[in-house]
Amino acid sequence: MISQKMKKLVEGSSAIRAMFEEGKKMIAERGEENVFDFSLGNPSIVPPDTVKKAMLDVIENEDTMTLHGYMNNAGFESTRQALADSLNKRFNAGAKLGDIVVTVGAAGGLNVALRSLINPGEEVMILAPFFGEYTNYIANVDGTPVIISPMKDFGINITEIEAKITEKTRCIIINSPNNPTGRVYTEDELKSLADLLAKKQKEFKTSIYIIADEPYREIVFGGRKAPFIPAIYPNTIVGYSFAKSLSLPGERIGYIYLPKSVDDYDNILGAMTVANRILGFVNAPSFMQKVIERVVDETADISVYEDNKNVLCSALKEYGYELNEPQGTFYAFPKSPIEDDKKFCADAKEYGLVIVPGSSFGAPGYFRIAFCVKPEKVKASLPAFKKAIERYKK
Ligand code: PLP
Repeated sequence: MISQKMKKLVEGSSAIRAMFEEGKKMIAERGEENVFDFSLGNPSIVPPDTVKKAMLDVIENEDTMTLHGYMNNAGFESTRQALADSLNKRFNAGAKLGDIVVTVGAAGGLNVALRSLINPGEEVMILAPFFGEYTNYIANVDGTPVIISPMKDFGINITEIEAKITEKTRCIIINSPNNPTGRVYTEDELKSLADLLAKKQKEFKTSIYIIADEPYREIVFGGRKAPFIPAIYPNTIVGYSFAKSLSLPGERIGYIYLPKSVDDYDNILGAMTVANRILGFVNAPSFMQKVIERVVDETADISVYEDNKNVLCSALKEYGYELNEPQGTFYAFPKSPIEDDKKFCADAKEYGLVIVPGSSFGAPGYFRIAFCVKPEKVKASLPAFKKAIERYKK
C-alpha cells in the first residue's frame, strides 16, 4: 500500500506528462507527420557545440578521482566561483562562491529552498497560471499553497496578493519569464510587489521571501531583459536551471543564488546545503558541474523560439484565438475557444494537436502550447489550429 499523501499526489499527477504519453501513442498510430505535439517544454534545439567540447575537455583534463568523487554538498568550489562570476558580470550581483548551491535542476533547487524555509501549514503564494509542479513541491513540505488569480494581461495581481497575505506567508514564488504565459514581469510591477512585501514584513514582523524561479531567464523576445529581482527586493532567493537555455533538461543541473541581503542568510545557506543532501540529491551531478563551469554564459540558438512565436501567434490571431503574445519562454497561453478547456484539448486531438488544458496550470479556460519544436512543425501545425477553432463557429 502506498502512503495516503503519495496517493493524493499520484492522483493529481501531471496532466502534461499524460498528454506527452498520449502524443507518443498518437504518433505510433497516425504517423509523425500527422501529429503536432506541443505538450512538453522539452527543447528541440541542439545544445551549442561548446557543450560537447566542454564535456570532452572535462573527461580529458579533470582529475578523475575529483571528478567522480563526493564533494561539498553545495557543489565544487570552481563551479560555484564560475557561477558567481557570471552573476557579477551580468547583473553586478556582488555574489561570492559561498552564496551558491549547485542543484539538480530548478526542480531540485525549488525543493531545497522550500524544505529550508517552510514549516508545516505555512503559506507559499503562487500566481496562477503557474507551473503545475509547484503544488506538488509545496505538498512535499506540508506547506499550504495560496493561489492568486490571474490578471487579464497575466501581470502580478497586487490587489489580491495584499488581500491574501498573512502572518503565515513565508514566501511567494515568482516565475518570470513565465511558464505557461510567456509573460516577463516589468521592473515597475516587481517594484510594486517589493513595496507591498516590505510593508507586510514590517506589519507582521516576519520575513517574506521571493523565490525567483528563473529557468527561462535568457529566453526573452523583442530585445527585452528579465529584471534581476534581488536588485529590487533584497529578500530574494534565485533558482536557475540550464535545462532550457542550453537545451539540457535531462542532465539535471542548475543552482540557487542566495544574496547576502537575505534575512537569516547564514542559517538558510546551511539549511539549503543540508537539504540538498538529505533530500537525497547529495550534490548536483559532478560531471555536469564541471561542464557548466566551462559554458556558464553560453546558450543554444534560442532565437528559433522567437521565430516560432511570431509565426504561431500571428496565425492564431488570424484564426480568431484570443491571446497575450508571449514576451519570453517558449509557451503561448491562448484562451480556449470554448469554456471547457479540457474538452477543447480533447477535441483538438482529432486534428493531431497535443496541447495542455489551462486547468493543469490553475487557469481553466485557457490552453498551453509549448512551441519549443522545430519551425517546420510549427508551420505544418497551423491548418490544425485553424480547424480546431472553426469547429465551434456556427
Ligand atoms: N520551473 C519552471 C517554471 C519550469 O517550467 C520548469 C520546467 O519546465 C522547472 C521549474 C523545472 O526545471 P528543471 O528541469 O531544471 O528542474
